Amino acid sequence: MIKSIADLPIEGRRVFIRVDFNVPLTPAKGVADDSRIRASLPTIQHAVKRGARVILASHLGRPKGPTPALSLEPVGARLADLLGQEVLLTDEAVGDGARKVVSDLRDGDVALLENVRFFPGEEANDDNFARQLASYADVYINDAFGTAHRAHASTVGMLKYVAEKGAGFLMLKEVEFLGKLLGNVERPYLAVVGGAKVSDKIGVLENLLGRVDAFLIGGAMANTFVKAKGGDVGKSRVEEDKMALARAFLAKADLRGVEVLLPSDAVAATSIDATEGTPVRADKVPADMMALDIGPQAAAGFADRIARARTVFWNGPMGVFEKKPFAAGTLAVAKAVAASRGLTVVGGGDSVAAVNEMGVADQIKHISTGGGASLEFIEGKTLPGIAALEVAE
Ligand code: ADP
Ligand code: MG
Repeated sequence: MIKSIADLPIEGRRVFIRVDFNVPLTPAKGVADDSRIRASLPTIQHAVKRGARVILASHLGRPKGPTPALSLEPVGARLADLLGQEVLLTDEAVGDGARKVVSDLRDGDVALLENVRFFPGEEANDDNFARQLASYADVYINDAFGTAHRAHASTVGMLKYVAEKGAGFLMLKEVEFLGKLLGNVERPYLAVVGGAKVSDKIGVLENLLGRVDAFLIGGAMANTFVKAKGGDVGKSRVEEDKMALARAFLAKADLRGVEVLLPSDAVAATSIDATEGTPVRADKVPADMMALDIGPQAAAGFADRIARARTVFWNGPMGVFEKKPFAAGTLAVAKAVAASRGLTVVGGGDSVAAVNEMGVADQIKHISTGGGASLEFIEGKTLPGIAALEVAE
């Protein structure tokens, strides 16, 4: 079982919270999107209110050694604004400066360790680095779901050196909602899967095969399926080497009586930079064109299926939603998912961005903050950062 921060004694203790503050920055070194910071506020505020001495740790980007452009300084400043209190940023994740900041903390104070990936020991899960991090912690809390699929020093290595460990509220919510999708849910249960590549999503398709009633497939991955079934996809993006995989999946689904709905029509153009698209049959895309979105018929059909479902998991945009002429399919799906009163969960970096852009995020039951981590969870993989939190009852 995994303990909640709410059930651990944290008053007056040094509580080390691994957060996922890997946020996009602006060129002027500001925070471009603070949703990941906001997502961990309930956990941080809880710890502050209970009088813990809070030590936050995160990575930012993929630095190879200390990189000023990837300092957590702007993140600390934004967090201080959101919390309405000072956040002390250490000069390095470990070392004399960090030790001093941590030992001077009083109850309710918040410190943020500088980017843990400035030390190669983080990603290498180096034991010495893990011990140094652990030396700051009486209690370890992981709230960084987005990094839970990585076995690094701050997500796994340091845990064996800490007496008490548990999960923050964000981590618990992610595990609860994504876990539901792998358990018993109300039916009909649909998986709407799109995005760039079959190869990225085949693990998700396979693991959901025994669970969902139907798959609705869109995005570039639909082209590979359409072509695998003998359709003409013109110069659409396809994965030639995944045809056999797509065919095998369709055969397996057929055997189990699980529907796989491919788009009947597509919005096509001769180039991704075209200012408008043409509706065509999805299996008859002209030779000089590419399918860049699901067509109006498919979008209406998908929306109708979603409206009648009780559980929907959505991962992957239906088209090149970043470009206006090819955003309609993704918008139709986003609206349908938002209108559903059933259990609705959206995961995947680009799908979540689409849902946010389209302004329907607050009508979806759960939006996963983890891109790769949510996919691996739905694939049925054990995430090392979650497994490491398990304690005997
Ligand atoms: P997620 O991050 O939600 O898991 P992916 O990364 O798998 O989603 O896919 C998103 C990308 O797929 C977007 O950049 C989008 O432009 C692209 N895409 C979707 N449909 C098509 C298409 N028909 N042709 C080319 N690219 C597509
Ligand atoms: Mg993506």
